[in-house]
Amino acid sequence: MKGRKLLMIPGPIEFEPEVLRAMSAVTTSHVAPSFINSFGNALDLMQKVWLAPNGQPFVVAGSGTLAMDMAVANLVETGDNVLVVSTGYFGKRYQDILERYQTNVTFLDAPVGEIPSLESIENALKSKAYKLVTMTHVDTSTGVLVRPKEIAALAKKYNALSILDGVCSVAGEEIKQEEWGIDVVLTASQKAVGVPPGLALLVASSKAMQTWEHRKTLVPNYYADWKNWLPIMKAYQGRKPSYFGTPPVNLIMALETSLKIIHEEGIAIRVQKHQQLANAFREAITALGLNILPSKKEDAANTLTAIYYPSGVEAGEFLKQLSKLDVIVAGGLLPELKTKYFRVGHMGAVTSIDIISTLSAIEFALVKCGFTFESGIGLSTFQKILNKEIE
Ligand SMILES: *Cc1c(COP(=O)(O)O)cnc(C)c1O
Repeated sequence: MKGRKLLMIPGPIEFEPEVLRAMSAVTTSHVAPSFINSFGNALDLMQKVWLAPNGQPFVVAGSGTLAMDMAVANLVETGDNVLVVSTGYFGKRYQDILERYQTNVTFLDAPVGEIPSLESIENALKSKAYKLVTMTHVDTSTGVLVRPKEIAALAKKYNALSILDGVCSVAGEEIKQEEWGIDVVLTASQKAVGVPPGLALLVASSKAMQTWEHRKTLVPNYYADWKNWLPIMKAYQGRKPSYFGTPPVNLIMALETSLKIIHEEGIAIRVQKHQQLANAFREAITALGLNILPSKKEDAANTLTAIYYPSGVEAGEFLKQLSKLDVIVAGGLLPELKTKYFRVGHMGAVTSIDIISTLSAIEFALVKCGFTFESGIGLSTFQKILNKEIE
């Protein structure tokens, strides 16, 4: 394809052709029977993909940051104590959002590449009554993967709600929202869910909905208020027309298409595929002599990998060499390490062929930057590990 580039960043990702076709379908009225059915299907499918059959799904036009904002705008009130468990850039963002709602934020982080210990989380929860705990499943700035099940269980033990920022994990990493008792799992369309940017998605537990119903004060954010959106979601799920704000019709049709693909493949298989590709990719990167940001391999995400440049390799030159081969990766995001590492997204429709192309381009760029290693060792390691895993 002329001018085709391989997009290997942590969102937007490469999308399935069927999803892109849904984007280019004729735009119908938002109350056309066919669209009502698509929207209803998308909401039903969210409950299945999130493994939250009794959860309340919300789909609104916006990015992942709106999903983060909407979750807390509806759940917190002035003066509430909130615990932010941070593993990077997006933990800081949650702190910023929560401070806007005049909550008392306790910000718990760890050295770059590490996760605050369960013990430190429990100590914080013991120290005073918290309304809620937030965590980032995969912090896209570091590629660190937290274990939401354990943190959500601690939140529950201390009677706090839990919110999982799953923007870089939903449909790529294992999440059992209802079984694990997570109150809100949120994401955005352009990451592992596999739909062009523009949708904020979340599923709220019945406990979260009850907390919202029993608020003493109005939600101080008009667009994000569940009062405006809950009747709309209920109507579409009941296959009835409704209106509050015009839904992004084509994006929602694309969401229905992508969630169908994910659900038909099976969420467990999909998660396993991400794990296999990511594991083989990490081993390949290690074989090249490069280090990843997460301190422990078991804390590394399966949707993206953050990789330190080896000494002597300069960010600008490396990324330029890669883009010569039409492979697009992302630079660093953590302000303090921005030029020290790069990030490769490997989620959604990604295939082993895409990763082989990427590894080959990485090897080429490293050679051009004067870094030496056994030629082809990254590629052969990837194939060896992957073949063993899928045998
Ligand atoms: C991408 C991302 C966000 C922000 O999503 P936007 O759609 O860019 O607003 C939040 N959290 C995590 C973990 C992300 O990866």
